[in-house]
Amino acid sequence: MAAEVSLWWIGANAPDDGMMEDVRRAVERAFWLRARRYVHADRPTHAFDPRRGQHSSTVMLKWLVDRGQPTGRVVAITDVDLFIPVLTYVYGEAQLGGRAAVVSTARLSLDVLAAADPAVRLARAVKETVHELGHTFGLLHCATVRCAMSRSVSLIDVDLTDPALCPPCTALYHEVRRKEGLDG
Ligand SMILES: [Zn+2]
Ligand SMILES: [Zn+2]
Repeated sequence: MAAEVSLWWIGANAPDDGMMEDVRRAVERAFWLRARRYVHADRPTHAFDPRRGQHSSTVMLKWLVDRGQPTGRVVAITDVDLFIPVLTYVYGEAQLGGRAAVVSTARLSLDVLAAADPAVRLARAVKETVHELGHTFGLLHCATVRCAMSRSVSLIDVDLTDPALCPPCTALYHEVRRKEGLDG
């Protein structure tokens, strides 16, 4: 059976393989799907905006979709800082009900908690990936603080969430699975 979710490190630096494996396992647990690493040297360098010194997450998403590979759902994970025009930065962006998502680790270690404990950064990367992948299944932001689909404006918000869907979001997710034929 082919993997249903591909995780692709598109960062400027070498990947943290331990983090990527944590993310892969969390995705399989949260969504009952097969996830795998996808490795390719292509990078969306044209997404860099020199005026802002950041990369456009929207341009990255378009690049992922247009590229066509890997097939199925793909979450690109990067260490460069992402923005959308109306915000100073974003932790990630996803196509709602689509195929692609992008997550940045650039801001996940910028506080004393992460400086004191490397596991904090890993946990945040896992939660952000589950969150953005949830959007690709059409899930919207959830009012339950601990739900992975809860809206995170700050790292404090991210830390409060679990890397899992709350019961109502799980029910919505199962509807999507049935529609997509993922339940076989
Ligand atoms: Zn979101
Ligand atoms: Zn929820």
